[in-house]
Amino acid sequence: MGAQQVQVGDGFAARYGAAPEGVWAAPGRVNLIGEHTDYNDGFVMPFALPQQAVAAVSRRDDGLLRLHSAEAGGDVVELRLDALAPGSDDAWTAYPAGVVWALREAGHPVTGADVHLSSTVPTGAGLSSSAALEVVIALALDDLYGLGLPGWRLARLCQRAENVYVGAPTGIMDQTASACCASGHALFLDSRDLSQRQIPFDLAAEGLRLLVVDTRVQHAHSGGEYGRRRAGCEKGAALLGVDALRDIPYDGLDAALARLGDDEEVVRLVRHVVTENHRVERVVDLLRSGGTRAIGPVLTEGHASLRDDFRVSCPELDLAVGTANAAGALGARMTGGGFGGSAIVLAEAADVPALTGTIERAFAEASFTRPRVFEAVPSPGARRLA
Ligand code: ADP
Ligand code: MG
Repeated sequence: MGAQQVQVGDGFAARYGAAPEGVWAAPGRVNLIGEHTDYNDGFVMPFALPQQAVAAVSRRDDGLLRLHSAEAGGDVVELRLDALAPGSDDAWTAYPAGVVWALREAGHPVTGADVHLSSTVPTGAGLSSSAALEVVIALALDDLYGLGLPGWRLARLCQRAENVYVGAPTGIMDQTASACCASGHALFLDSRDLSQRQIPFDLAAEGLRLLVVDTRVQHAHSGGEYGRRRAGCEKGAALLGVDALRDIPYDGLDAALARLGDDEEVVRLVRHVVTENHRVERVVDLLRSGGTRAIGPVLTEGHASLRDDFRVSCPELDLAVGTANAAGALGARMTGGGFGGSAIVLAEAADVPALTGTIERAFAEASFTRPRVFEAVPSPGARRLA
């Protein structure tokens, strides 16, 4: 039994005066490739991190939801289920409450819960601490109330909680990754129909490592910029007469761009989405043919596209990627929505200590906040622990 699991069980008992009915876990994620494609009905390829949210939960039958987070601290927050409403809560409790709201809205007979949770997923680092929080609650309630919902369906409900209840416009990738990823695999997900394939991604077996460089930067305007990119993609799809940019094939890109004429911003956005979808397919093919090292340049190409065409990078992410590649990494890119957050670096295991030192020194020389660098091992998705 892990220390996090014991702590959360004990924390529950201390607050609610009895052992929980069960304990569940849901991980954060990094996206290997496929950025800003999910809301264009395209492809993504995340894998789960060992960092996870763990929740101890018991049912209640009196219409009350009681919530406590070890990281948020403070008193237990008590909410009435019949008073849950989108936009009514701007604290962390909106994430778990939003999941309960979405389940009940979908007709599932959830009558209350006591929750104590703790998460090792860093918040605001582009590693999806919010999805980990949502999915762990959804899975716990699915289990306790015997709902029998599949992972992709729980992910949809969690996305609805985040989009509608919390009010954050996100795609479907984060929640699906947390709910559905498998140890030693990356998840190839088609965000149009949520069909998925587990792609073996065993870095250690090939003497490789994947580093996460958390820049610890989060730009305040990221929400508005995200909305603007999203609107630009929708405009591109409308101009091209397709449902979503996913429908523009890679070999039809030049013709599509020519049709967009001189709308320079839309041209850039469309070019990123279409080439990025193609990069996901290339990475799947390369991993299938056993060439994990060969995906490095595709990752780096993806970064250039996010920096120059989609324009969601920032100096810290560019420095992490540039420094890593100059110091002998196999490839690197920003991961997550951008404007801060984390970069990933694919490297030979033997090169990790030197690479880490070089990146940290480069950040110090640029007077940037010291980044947090750690290895990401493809880990299990959401599951019951006890
Ligand atoms: P990301 O998902 O990239 O980490 P978000 O802004 O989407 O960033 O979600 C972060 C928010 O999720 C936090 O501000 C907080 O409200 C909530 N959150 C994440 N982890 C916890 C936790 N352990 N306890 C309480 N709230 C948390
Ligand atoms: Mg999030």
